[in-house]
Amino acid sequence: MNVSVFDFHCDTALALLGEDMNQAGSLRQNRLHIDLERAAALGGYAQCFACFTTPLMEERISPVLAFERELATIQREVDKNLDLISIAYSPEEIEENQVAGKMSAILTLEGTAGFGYDPALLEDLYAIGFRITSLGWNEQNPLTGSHVTGGGLTDRGREYVREAQRLGMLVDVSHISDEGFWDILKITDAPIIATHSNSRAVWNNSRNLTDDMFRAICETGGVAGYNACAEFTGENPDLDTICDHFFHFLELDPSGTHIALGGDLDGVEALPHGFEGVQSWPVLAQRLLGRGMDEMTIQNIYWNNAMGVMKRAVCNHTK
Ligand SMILES: [Zn+2]
Repeated sequence: MNVSVFDFHCDTALALLGEDMNQAGSLRQNRLHIDLERAAALGGYAQCFACFTTPLMEERISPVLAFERELATIQREVDKNLDLISIAYSPEEIEENQVAGKMSAILTLEGTAGFGYDPALLEDLYAIGFRITSLGWNEQNPLTGSHVTGGGLTDRGREYVREAQRLGMLVDVSHISDEGFWDILKITDAPIIATHSNSRAVWNNSRNLTDDMFRAICETGGVAGYNACAEFTGENPDLDTICDHFFHFLELDPSGTHIALGGDLDGVEALPHGFEGVQSWPVLAQRLLGRGMDEMTIQNIYWNNAMGVMKRAVCNHTK
């Protein structure tokens, strides 16, 4: 099945930098989970590239320096490959790229340590091109607790959510604590997304969403993106285990309009058996089709639902 792929999360910027955070791997062609040559074989491609920071990286590198290097890596690699991809600042630009046969890169924030957890800096980050932000990663930080530490939003966390939504930046609840999740749901007035989170009913892991959490995301008009991390998918997972997550969410959301992709490629140690990287999205689509999912639902999950939530929530400012 020839599918367009909109993927809400990868850690390819970090992976390109390598162990010492100082290398310059090539986005065009590499041995990681994602490269542009493989992605170019898809029907279309929009990839969110995360700048990932956490205080837990401090022994290895300062989060501020990591943030600078990851952002510079994405910008430089896109600039070197403008024949294939460009940074998209709005859903309309993603569509224009798609029509022109080009891929889109969307800048996203995973963790807030790289800019001091400071809501006042979101406006500058928006101007650079960031369109999605989480409040943290696996740590307790000045904004919120995580799924590892527990603990809900602080006053500064609430200020952060309000400022992101004022700017038209999507708030991402992947990695947050359950308490933090519900604290955000209480104050949100925009769609909420979990860029890379699976179903906890299918596989019990604190990184996954309970049925109530997924339903709450649907009610905001948001989406949850399937995370291809083996550990969050199941025990010795394969393509069918992945399908189980999609079909479970589809039972809770029969319209199938709140399910998306957030592969977490280049950010995980192991992928499910049969899923090897960006080139495997069509293989998974074929398996979903074989399991009885209709083609329109697959196209919605792979592309249309992501575009829908971007259009509902992301302000249409361009550069
Ligand atoms: Zn993550």
